[in-house]
Amino acid sequence: MKRIFIDELGKHIGETVSISGWVDVRRDQGKMVFFDFRDRSGLVQGVVLPKSDAMAKPEGSPGASQGEALREIAKEIRNEYAVQVEGVVNKRPEKNVQADRQNGDIELEIKNIEILNPSEPLPFDISNDTSNIDEGTRAEYRYLDLRSERMQKNIHVRSEFIDRCRQYLFKNHFTEIETPLLTESTPEGSRDFVVPSRLSPGKFYALPQSPQQYKQLLMASGFERYFQIARCIRDEDLRADRGFEHTQIDMEMSFVKMEDVMDMVEGMITTAVEAMGHTIKQKPFPRIPYKEAMQKYGADKFDLRTQEEKENGILAYAWVVNFPFFEKTDEGAWTFTHNPFSMPIPEHIDWLLKGEHVEEILTTQYDLICNGYESGGGSIRAHKPEILEATYRVMGFSKEDLEERIGHMLKAFRFGTPPHGGIGLGVERNIMNLTSETMLREVQAFPMTRGGQTAVMKAPKPLSEKQLRELHLSVNANNKSKN
Ligand code: ASP
Repeated sequence: MKRIFIDELGKHIGETVSISGWVDVRRDQGKMVFFDFRDRSGLVQGVVLPKSDAMAKPEGSPGASQGEALREIAKEIRNEYAVQVEGVVNKRPEKNVQADRQNGDIELEIKNIEILNPSEPLPFDISNDTSNIDEGTRAEYRYLDLRSERMQKNIHVRSEFIDRCRQYLFKNHFTEIETPLLTESTPEGSRDFVVPSRLSPGKFYALPQSPQQYKQLLMASGFERYFQIARCIRDEDLRADRGFEHTQIDMEMSFVKMEDVMDMVEGMITTAVEAMGHTIKQKPFPRIPYKEAMQKYGADKFDLRTQEEKENGILAYAWVVNFPFFEKTDEGAWTFTHNPFSMPIPEHIDWLLKGEHVEEILTTQYDLICNGYESGGGSIRAHKPEILEATYRVMGFSKEDLEERIGHMLKAFRFGTPPHGGIGLGVERNIMNLTSETMLREVQAFPMTRGGQTAVMKAPKPLSEKQLRELHLSVNANNKSKN
């Protein structure tokens, strides 16, 4: 019999159907055994009636009637068993209808249950919110945690958001392009994760902190509108809203000014989140200069919602613009505040080229904030070699150093690279806003723990002697980190 998903059962009243899924709840009332069965589409109640003339095979119970065999199986089954169930879809009598529940007006009269795989008792209860369960236990059994209603919802919301953004971008003639994961260390402002090279002893790849340089090179390649659902990997301090890995909707566009990118992003976000049933406080999104934000809110990430709007799940987006390009390091040198590949605002290009008024130079950076989080950031880029060179000169790079670091970009910019700009939108931060979660790990399928341990699998862990030899590595045992 062909499997039917639980959310379609209402269309099959009076028919005998087959469903597959998990036992969500089992209620043994002696004569009758009730179940809630769950599949990816929802829940339905099933019942084994006392006088059920079942189709069950009376295996292992010689002489037993089929109905008795079914009742035996029903007694044996526990929560989270994977089962296949055949039964008749009945309308519930009026008095038993639960109008507020999915399938609250029907019930499956069970004729046969096949146990596809039993389940041991679960290490924690997944019928409730699991956010208070010990983090290590949740990580070890993440696949069970993910079966819980809240986690299923969060991961589905994530998938839908990405899908809607993708559709919007395709409609607007973007091309989805992957860029390498094994690449060169990039100056994104965090530490790199590095990968030793077996073929080149003593040399290392770096995992990308973002596809920044490759997406700019795609603009040099004539693609004009690029996007990627990109993994960004940064060795930074782990916090509630930060992990080693996050995903960005990474975009870049050619022949654009700030407004063009901001309008495109605003259109995408608005289309996606409104289609998902959310309300946006203010459209177009307010644009607030960095200086004003600092004076008014004391921070460049702020929450524009009133208490009532917070309770009603309103989304308050805003752009922050006119950031200073440079700030001083602890050692007193200049460094970039956001992105070294950015273009200054047009009025300040001359200052940059001459290395004058460095503290006053403003960048074309635009940060998108929502409900107190930074949900994305981008800029118009320096597309001419002399501008990028000037940025690195301000930061104290010698001609040789900058050639070594960004020589490939300078070279590409000498071949008619168009003006371009883009953005990286943090998928997790956006999903946190859409689901009212405050922890990054609640919106990733397999997040790391706060101590940097992977979910379910046990990384980081030592390599074998053989692997170390092949990679030309020796480990300084005195330097072993705890973990
Ligand atoms: N690469 C930047 C980041 O990861 C985003 C961008 O400017 O497009 O923050």
